[in-house]
Amino acid sequence: MAKRTIRTVGDRILTKTARSVEHLGPKELTLIDDMLETMYEENGVGLAAPQVGVLKRIVVMDVGEGPIVMVNPRITAREGEQTGDEGCLSVPGKVACVTRPEKVTAEALDREGKPFVITGEGLLARCICHECDHLDGHLYTEFAEGPVRDVEEEAEAEEEE
Ligand code: ZN
Repeated sequence: MAKRTIRTVGDRILTKTARSVEHLGPKELTLIDDMLETMYEENGVGLAAPQVGVLKRIVVMDVGEGPIVMVNPRITAREGEQTGDEGCLSVPGKVACVTRPEKVTAEALDREGKPFVITGEGLLARCICHECDHLDGHLYTEFAEGPVRDVEEEAEAEEEE
């Protein structure tokens, strides 16, 4: 496994649509392992392949309940609404408020290529939406309600209070 470089906002690859994975071979499995390692090292809860410069429809997530791998994910149901702060490893040091569904169901393949269905609520629902957006070339900042804020400035402001 190896940590990969995370592409950041301004890199055109983040605006491109990723291709479906037709075959899960050694190259894709190494990519998945590297994405997990990169996500954990950067303390992220999710990472999509375009963020490490690969235009394939692969996503990894861990919202604190263990790793989840989604290949060719497709959101099939959305329910309710949640509004809260969201960040992204490709937009370092920033947060912004985004409204997402409270509950999301998605279909995907796992790392063995077996189809599965995942239903997530709260943070996991937010994460599924955020990562699937990456596969279509979208960043959360496009959907932000209000300003994209600086995390550090906010922490300093809180300390001063
Ligand atoms: Zn992101």
